[in-house]
Amino acid sequence: MDTEPLLLTPGPLTTSERVRRAMMRDWGSRDADFIRLNAEVCARLLSISGGVERRVCVPWRGSGTFAVEAMIATLVPPEGRLLVLRNGAYGARMVEIARRYGRDVVVQEDPEDRAHSPERLDHRLAEDPAITHVAVVHCETTTGLLHPLAELAAVVARRGRHLLVDAMSSFGALPLDVGRLPALAVAASANKCLEGVPGLAFVIVEREALMAAQGVCPSLALDLAAQYRAMAETGQYRFTPPTHVLAALREALLIHEEEGGVEGRGRRYRENLRVLVAGMRELGFRTLLSDELQAPIIVTFLEPASPSWCFDRFYDGLKRRGFAIYPGKLARRPSFRIGCIGRVFPDDLRRAVAAVAEVLGEMGVDDPKPDLELTME
Ligand SMILES: *Cc1c(COP(=O)(O)O)cnc(C)c1O
Repeated sequence: MDTEPLLLTPGPLTTSERVRRAMMRDWGSRDADFIRLNAEVCARLLSISGGVERRVCVPWRGSGTFAVEAMIATLVPPEGRLLVLRNGAYGARMVEIARRYGRDVVVQEDPEDRAHSPERLDHRLAEDPAITHVAVVHCETTTGLLHPLAELAAVVARRGRHLLVDAMSSFGALPLDVGRLPALAVAASANKCLEGVPGLAFVIVEREALMAAQGVCPSLALDLAAQYRAMAETGQYRFTPPTHVLAALREALLIHEEEGGVEGRGRRYRENLRVLVAGMRELGFRTLLSDELQAPIIVTFLEPASPSWCFDRFYDGLKRRGFAIYPGKLARRPSFRIGCIGRVFPDDLRRAVAAVAEVLGEMGVDDPKPDLELTME
């Protein structure tokens, strides 16, 4: 019997036994078998993105942030100006990356519980012709909010600018279709909706732009263009690749395909979300976001106002019952998060809600209603 808790978090996530078993072999990184394995993984990632001919997949050792940093540092040139749409921690991270590389960066800020508006973006781009690139987070994992990516991308394209997308927490579960989406680059990682293990990220990027960006990135290890060129020439990574992680990701991609690809995975996550939110609302919890803004990835619940509430006790009670959840990350309101991605199914979420009810009883919280006087502004 599996005694480890299910990870109801934004990643790393619960993976399948097949994925974990795929790591039981050592691979030589210069060996033809591994080079083939890597090429297969890249081809599958490219195909999931819906991007084909003009794009390439550049895999990256490290967590998701490494790929986002490589994308910004390589594709935004010193003479460019980057506009970051920010309404959470991951937008803020892109701003910090650009600043650290000395790039000219400006920000369009929105409240944490509101989606970026394509109209506002349009005005901003009209007002500031110096903006060359726009960066946006697809699903802002800080809250679980899904931004209207296709509409935002259309505005960026109409204004003749380049779009960079952080699709970390949506890739593989929500349709992206970079074939039609006018995005210069999309960054994501192995250990979220693809249900692989942590240690590999990747950027899907227009090949021509990447070739033109040789020598732009000031960092040696995070130079996306150099990595691509080396891989195109030799099939190899410039530096030690995470061989076991790649083997696990290939298995995870086979499972993804068996589940029906993006559509099948998205369907399971949407059902997980439905069960979770309905169950928690029935207990009296409130979600931060209205349903139309909520991605089927992770849900932010407002903390109960009851004086008997204590997050640490809540966390421990759930963990003893086999579920690991996540603390909140809101700037202004106490909250916690429960994820619905990973190798978890609607019945797991039903059991999780039942466990929440038990822990509330144990803590003596009769009504988990939050303090609605607190606002986001
Ligand atoms: C997980 C995540 C990242 C990357 O975080 P790491 O901790 O570096 O893996 C970036 N952006 C978003 C939206 C994410 O959800």
